[in-house]
Amino acid sequence: MGEGVLKRYARYLPLTPDTPALSIGEGETPLVRSHHLAGELGIDDLYFKLEGCNPTASFKDRGMVVAVAKALEGGYTTILCASTGNTSASAAAYGAAAGIETVVLVPRGNVAEGKLSQAVAYGARVITLRGNFDAALAIARELAEARSVCLVNSVNPHRIEGQKTAAFEIVDVLGDAPDLLFIPVGNAGNITAYWKGFREYRDVGNAARLPRMMGFQAEGAAPIVEGRAIEDPQTIASAIRIGNPANWAGALAARDESEGDIGMVSDAEILEAYKLMARTEGIFCEAASAASVAGLIKHVRGGADVTGRTIVCVITGNGLKDPGLVQEIADRAPEEAPANVEAVARLLGEPVSGTSGGGGKRS
Ligand SMILES: *Cc1c(COP(=O)(O)O)cnc(C)c1O
Repeated sequence: MGEGVLKRYARYLPLTPDTPALSIGEGETPLVRSHHLAGELGIDDLYFKLEGCNPTASFKDRGMVVAVAKALEGGYTTILCASTGNTSASAAAYGAAAGIETVVLVPRGNVAEGKLSQAVAYGARVITLRGNFDAALAIARELAEARSVCLVNSVNPHRIEGQKTAAFEIVDVLGDAPDLLFIPVGNAGNITAYWKGFREYRDVGNAARLPRMMGFQAEGAAPIVEGRAIEDPQTIASAIRIGNPANWAGALAARDESEGDIGMVSDAEILEAYKLMARTEGIFCEAASAASVAGLIKHVRGGADVTGRTIVCVITGNGLKDPGLVQEIADRAPEEAPANVEAVARLLGEPVSGTSGGGGKRS
């Protein structure tokens, strides 16, 4: 346990004897069976892949560890990325562990508080741009071409290589690929990576079949669904607020080769799934992650037959990243009481005296 992606999946990764064995414990994330939604939707086997359990609380760590190890191998002393938040958090952490400088370009006002705090905590140089993610990525790409800094966005192929290991883990646990994989789509690196991982595992005989890839974008940021770049993408799910995905072609290939689909869900549907995951599964995820669950709900409510199917939803990041969003689903404000038993008992509507049979206990 905790050996990391490079060691665990070395034979499937582009490593050489000179690639440093970098890790801060990424990978081996839980594949948790649904407690509630499965029954609600009539699904026999529904699992959540909890990528928020990675060291910086999103799946980005899987690809970042490979990208940064390869940057070290290549002699780089600075890594650079554009980010809606999670890439910068991950780059900053691995940059710190590797002892090199991290520069992150973030769109102003569009990055969740937790993610920015991480970049600051890990000591990255944070540059806020008066523009959106797509503009930030264009600048990062141009800078990296002209200077000796290593670009660690998912246009860096090593990111995709590392991220494909999540597909390996799912097969390692289930014994085969699921029938359907639901995944949020932003810059489309992750859906590209999962599809690559499932194919590679099938090709070496570790899996007998391939899943149908079901990607979901947010309605206000759905360039792939609409077939055109979106100038000013809008959604509460900031991790997928992307109007011109760098891995567009990879997403289309995953969709078409797997006979899957790339659809879209509204912010209201994303929030409903975000709330449902927390309230009924005990899983507090990012809004972007909830897009995969919202997509599944939409798929089933739309009449798809899911009996006998094994389904995995990729839960890409942890809800603590964006604490401000919780107010969107809060229906009970914290209460206040004087610090004595009587006052708290009165609030709870409990008898004050007597210790038998506490009201909250299951009999
Ligand atoms: C990056 C990210 C996504 C989107 O992944 P892409 O590879 O850009 O499609 C979704 N959810 C979270 C939490 C992310 O950090």
